[in-house]
Amino acid sequence: MNLKKYAEVVLKIGTNLQKDQILFVRAPIDAREFVEVITDIAFDLGAHNVYIKWNAETINKIILKKASEKALQEVPSWEINASEELLNKKAAFLTIIGGDPDIYKDVPPHKIGTTIKARNMAMKEISKRIMSNEISWCVVAYPTEKWAKKVLGEDGTKEQLLELILKASRIYGDPIENWKNHISNLQKITDFLNKMQFDYLHYEGPTIDLKVGLPENHIWLSGSQDNLDGVTFVPNIPTEEIFTAPHRKKINGVLRNSLPLVYSGNIIDKFELEFKDGKVINYHAEIGEEILKTILETDDGARFLGEVALVPVDSPIYQMKKIFYNTLFDENAASHFAFGRAYTSCIKDGEKMGEDELKNAGLNVSITHVDFMIGNEEMKVTGYKNGEKVIIMENGKWAI
Ligand code: ZN
Ligand code: ZN
Repeated sequence: MNLKKYAEVVLKIGTNLQKDQILFVRAPIDAREFVEVITDIAFDLGAHNVYIKWNAETINKIILKKASEKALQEVPSWEINASEELLNKKAAFLTIIGGDPDIYKDVPPHKIGTTIKARNMAMKEISKRIMSNEISWCVVAYPTEKWAKKVLGEDGTKEQLLELILKASRIYGDPIENWKNHISNLQKITDFLNKMQFDYLHYEGPTIDLKVGLPENHIWLSGSQDNLDGVTFVPNIPTEEIFTAPHRKKINGVLRNSLPLVYSGNIIDKFELEFKDGKVINYHAEIGEEILKTILETDDGARFLGEVALVPVDSPIYQMKKIFYNTLFDENAASHFAFGRAYTSCIKDGEKMGEDELKNAGLNVSITHVDFMIGNEEMKVTGYKNGEKVIIMENGKWAI
């Protein structure tokens, strides 16, 4: 019953599937049960058809280990063409995530780096089109046994993790009503931040002292977005963040992460970054420094930030006091930044700008986008505009 409610939220609120639209689902084979429910409901909602691209991470792992570096650099054109065709047909893109957070632990990091880099390069145009909301897209999660054990310990079960996922995703009572209220609450703060158009934000606390400049005409976004056809959709379930793009050259100061960063199954933690004029000029990680280096060396833009996101510590995910080892949940647990690409929708007319225009406007350009968490109970965020200041967050909670 709950799976059905979950699927309904995913299709009605998440992708907001329209009549006669194609639903394209990317899912792990472990989510078969959930994909069955989704497919069934999608047709009830009037889907034209449902296409599914399955993946199996245990097989991906064999490929990563045994395929040559050269083979990993090649991305078949039929794969790119498929995404292109689906975009042209205005399909709704649904991605289901979930798996073993440790799956790629013993795969050499450079092979993971090579693969991700090659895929990001090959899919550059595709992800640009998706990220500029040409179509509706949504990312949701479905648990696996191994993921459950990682989050909950050896006795943890898939069912228990599903409970947490459903709770975080507000699937209780009348879930559709819950989502309407949640989206409207987020929108109120978003509207305020957009009206204020702060020049910069000052983050203060025991683990952070950072000034983050914001570009002119920046746009804060949250919860729901509109695609180019004007259909409102929710790209992430769950979602707690209110985010925009920082000015790529106006970030100065130091910070320490507050939650581990999980990158392709590898954990980076207890890391410190120092920024000067937007660029990471010093970094150190007690855990996973080599992986952090891989991220920062992806391309020229990877050492700059592309996202600034605010999440209060009273959000349901932060309150669960659990590390999910998964960005969809962990990034919605706490305030965060992202290395790499900015969302073009975070600046006025950004969708129409080319790379150089975006950069001139202050937005970062990169083939990567990796979130890392910095929010905690002691963080204070102040917004500055023409010398005037407004406290936005105090003790990690909204102060506006
Ligand atoms: Zn984010
Ligand atoms: Zn992000």
